[in-house]
Amino acid sequence: MESLDTIKEKIINLQDEIKKYSYYYYSKNESLVSDVEFDKKLKELEELENKYPEFKAENSPTITIGSSLKDTKFRKITHKRPMLSLTNSYNIHDVIDFSERINKLLNYKNDKLCYALELKLDGASISLQYEDGKLITGVTRGDGIEGEDVTENIYAIKSIPKILKEKITMEVRGEIIFPKSKFIKLNEKRLAEGEDVFANPRNAASGTLRQIDAQVVAERELDAYFYFLVDAKKFNIETHSESISYLEKLGFQTTGVCELLTSMNDMEKRILYWENAREALDYETDGMVIKLDNMNLWEEIGYTTKSPRWAIAYKFQAKQISTVLMGITWQVGRTGKITPVAELEEVELSGSKIKRASLHNTDEILRKDIKIGDRVFIEKAAEIIPQVVSPIKELRNGSESVIDAPINCPSCGQVLEREEGLVDLKCVNPICPAIIQGTIEYFVSRDAMNISGLGSKIVEKFLKLGYIKDVTDIYNLKNHREELVELDKMGEKSITNLLEAIENSKKRSYSKTLYALGIQYVGKFVANLLAKKSKNIDNLAQMSVEELLTIDEVGNKIASSVYEFFNTEKSLIIVEKLKKIGINFSYAGFEINEENYSEENETNKHKEDDIFIGKKFLFTGKMTRFKREDIKDIVESLGGENLSGVSKKLDYLIVGDDAGSKLEKARALGTVTILSEEEFINLCGDKIKI
Ligand SMILES: [Zn+2]
Repeated sequence: MESLDTIKEKIINLQDEIKKYSYYYYSKNESLVSDVEFDKKLKELEELENKYPEFKAENSPTITIGSSLKDTKFRKITHKRPMLSLTNSYNIHDVIDFSERINKLLNYKNDKLCYALELKLDGASISLQYEDGKLITGVTRGDGIEGEDVTENIYAIKSIPKILKEKITMEVRGEIIFPKSKFIKLNEKRLAEGEDVFANPRNAASGTLRQIDAQVVAERELDAYFYFLVDAKKFNIETHSESISYLEKLGFQTTGVCELLTSMNDMEKRILYWENAREALDYETDGMVIKLDNMNLWEEIGYTTKSPRWAIAYKFQAKQISTVLMGITWQVGRTGKITPVAELEEVELSGSKIKRASLHNTDEILRKDIKIGDRVFIEKAAEIIPQVVSPIKELRNGSESVIDAPINCPSCGQVLEREEGLVDLKCVNPICPAIIQGTIEYFVSRDAMNISGLGSKIVEKFLKLGYIKDVTDIYNLKNHREELVELDKMGEKSITNLLEAIENSKKRSYSKTLYALGIQYVGKFVANLLAKKSKNIDNLAQMSVEELLTIDEVGNKIASSVYEFFNTEKSLIIVEKLKKIGINFSYAGFEINEENYSEENETNKHKEDDIFIGKKFLFTGKMTRFKREDIKDIVESLGGENLSGVSKKLDYLIVGDDAGSKLEKARALGTVTILSEEEFINLCGDKIKI
């Protein structure tokens, strides 16, 4: 049992912590913790205060949350109607509970209640007043009671109508967002000008909206979407969905997503759909909003002190979370490049446990001003290893220590070099064990020779035993069969499998075998280009830099690197040996990957085929990895069909750069799965060789 003093202290600490977070959030547009963490703390405080009301302070953040407007440069305006926040939910059970509560409040008299499901935009909320169809004021959400007058800046946002199609007096609410496509450019520009970068599009939106200079706002091309008409019943509108249509008619931009659902089963399906599909949108969404559609019931259901009871927010899994940086491990890659890896206090993000994250190079540590002991934000973008985004400097207490770059190679001890003009530290010792190991691991990796059974522990062992000195020795392992069986933990069966995988790897496609050579700057995509163009490795080895440069997308760096590789004795010896071993170095054109179509894989085949057979595909925008004709071939050869336009029949829309009306149309339908080019490739999985 905790003593009352401990509980009091806990409450005070939580209050201080939350006040600090919300001060930064509302006054400085900075998030010190993720929304999920913030909500968790607030909930914890609320529960403690309810249990021990004697410790609840008058200015506790549970009462005054977000009212940190004291620093504002703008005139304050009181909202005509408070801008309430929504209760957050994090799983479908919360949503089911929410609908149960509504049913109960309505005494179960309505058997099929209809809910509107909409995207929850992650930007800056705004409330606009129009008089006789003319835009009069624009006010930020602020603390929900009063906000900042940012009317001038609102005028600078192109997509906000200044004059409505009807001469009415009304208030409308929406979200100012920073388009994702423009966000990267903005940060690049800020970096170049020596300014701090924005952590995310939301901060960029809210920071831009609170600029003193409206010209800056105009330059940054903010965008706005609207989702709520205040007092809609004044206009003889009965449902929320009708009010959205009316807003569109008046000239407001909406997301086009307002799905009407009556069953919680469908609700769950559609939420899951949007959790995936949102990646293709040009604005950030952090969840969905679920509202009871029939507005006549709203008053009956009522409000809590902070939120309406007829609406709830469903928050998607966080993509960013904060944790403590415990230390740095310096890794030696296959090229000798030294990479700092962040060792973190274990934390869970999007369902996976994370202990390490990438930091790229020493300059990044300097640029981001990261110290050991810092609380840092980490982020996991789709399928990429987690990255350290930034330290939370405000939480430093002086015990943090500066990160020093190593002088010697952590593997072989040789003094590291820094090439002129390049940021990376390098070990240039040709017999550095870490480099040799890295080269072999890269060679056998999934996207290269794909030899399963040669994990890093085994490679390390074989290196130590002298069975392997370079990649070609892998194909001589069969001569050590008996010794291998003797090795700890390596049974007869696993050796048979390993040797079989090694033999099979000889048939890998040319683009994979070329990639496996580990030529600098030749990744999967470039290897495929080179393979297609050169047809075989002898042709490629003969190409001059000028010839290489005639290949689309091959620039100076790649051309010189390829040329240098094939004009270095050491690599030529390896290539000759690999050719003698029987490794495939000829291009066979585009092929379906037979590996997944062998008889032993029969069950697997049917399951995987279902993804394509009979499904309708459409591609829009500029693809970077494929030519349009090639990508259509892939769909057809896998049993899918290509459509020429968006219709209800369409299953998948694959979206490239600068996609236009087709994307809008598909979104509006709400039934089409929208994928990026990368996601399409993932969908194909092993079925194609590219
Ligand atoms: Zn070394």
